[in-house]
Amino acid sequence: MSTYDVCIVGAGVVGCAIARELGRRHRDSPLRIVVLEQHEKVGEETSGRNSGVLHSGIHEDPCSLKGQLAREGSALAVSYALQHGIPLLRTGMVIAISWEDVRRGLWREVSMLRRLWVNAWKTNIRVSFVTPSGLRAWEPNLRSCGGIIIPSVSVIDPLAFAQSLRTESEATDAQFAFNNRVIGIDEDADAYIVTTDRQRIRAACLINAAGLHADDIAAFALHNKKYTIHPLRGEYYELVTPEKKCLIGRLVYPALPPQATGKGIHFSPRPNGQLFVGPNELAIKDKRDYTSRKTPPSLFVEALQKFLPALDERDLRWAYSGIRPRVIAAGGHKSDFIVSVDREDPPLINLVGIESPGLSAALALARHVGDLPCIQKRFRPIDSRSLSHDAYDR
Ligand SMILES: Cc1cc2nc3c(=O)[nH]c(=O)nc-3n(C[C@H](O)[C@H](O)[C@H](O)COP(=O)(O)OP(=O)(O)OC[C@H]3O[C@@H](n4cnc5c(N)ncnc54)[C@H](O)[C@@H]3O)c2cc1C
Repeated sequence: MSTYDVCIVGAGVVGCAIARELGRRHRDSPLRIVVLEQHEKVGEETSGRNSGVLHSGIHEDPCSLKGQLAREGSALAVSYALQHGIPLLRTGMVIAISWEDVRRGLWREVSMLRRLWVNAWKTNIRVSFVTPSGLRAWEPNLRSCGGIIIPSVSVIDPLAFAQSLRTESEATDAQFAFNNRVIGIDEDADAYIVTTDRQRIRAACLINAAGLHADDIAAFALHNKKYTIHPLRGEYYELVTPEKKCLIGRLVYPALPPQATGKGIHFSPRPNGQLFVGPNELAIKDKRDYTSRKTPPSLFVEALQKFLPALDERDLRWAYSGIRPRVIAAGGHKSDFIVSVDREDPPLINLVGIESPGLSAALALARHVGDLPCIQKRFRPIDSRSLSHDAYDR
């Protein structure tokens, strides 16, 4: 049986970022790190099936982990992308109100914009309110009566990001074991024995970054079901008509009433020039169900035609879907990110409910995990913030 210091379950963007962070902090006396992944490459689940937006965090409560880590993580991700040549579209985000919304009674959407503006003000994120003519200068073909613009928001290629984090982790000797599905976890006095469908390994610290399946991995390790993930699919269509896909160049989100659970179906441009619309929210039972009961394109046209009247069902082609690992908190609200030290010694850290803005937050989440006292106590720490820029960029 192979023995490791740290076992990370899941090679999504979060597992890869944690492997990289711990590897870099212990460069002088490398930790033996293994990342167990059921698929044959990184980012095969949620990390490769999202909008790629590096969110500013203003949609979140500024004091929440989601808000704090999206803010810190998106800034880290932008510099990471620039330094490592990861495709990045520096588009800015528009959150727009349509004339149709105005006719239906504007106040709910305006109060949402006001809340976002307050969040931005509290967290020092530059946003500006814009009039219809101001918006036309920014996005000429968009029909809207105004909204807010967050110029700092970018879109990253999420798979290239995750892959690059993997490559960097491997450079610090982390091992990735693909096609290894974790099927059981036991523990003895000072380690976890992790069983996959291919091998058994022993690790002094277990980090569960298994995304949609984090509740099952936590249940293996804790021998009871502490968390429940409710899979919530988000579907995308691609706008394929050449003369129409050039009509929108930036991220355009709708202003939604405050009680809305997501950020809404938006125009979602990508660094490679493709333009998608989505995602919606569809509760599903099976965490692997990406395609049954596909939502017809009419729903997406209905959501966005108010901003782009020329949009038609024939312009849209089914593209892909991703599944959010939603955890429902008390009162029926969606939960904050859960980063829970469920056992101090040997350390067991469960990351659960890492839905949007988890991609944006990944590098900051990894720092957060590296800073946990149980990790610092177990392994001789180097605070990543004290790494020289040079060392940090190597
Ligand atoms: C539709 C949609 C749009 C989104 N848009 C954005 C966005 O624009 N910006 C943003 O910041 N965030 C966005 N997100 C959220 C973001 O994609 C996630 O927060 C992030 O990808 C989570 O990464 P992860 O590594 O935690 O999970 P995952 O990518 O799901 O990785 C978990 C890994 O664990 C592996 N695994 C699971 N069980 C086992 C097992 N038993 N054995 C071995 N391996 C296992 C899986 O195969 C998987 O590879 C979006 C999500 C969705 C669904």
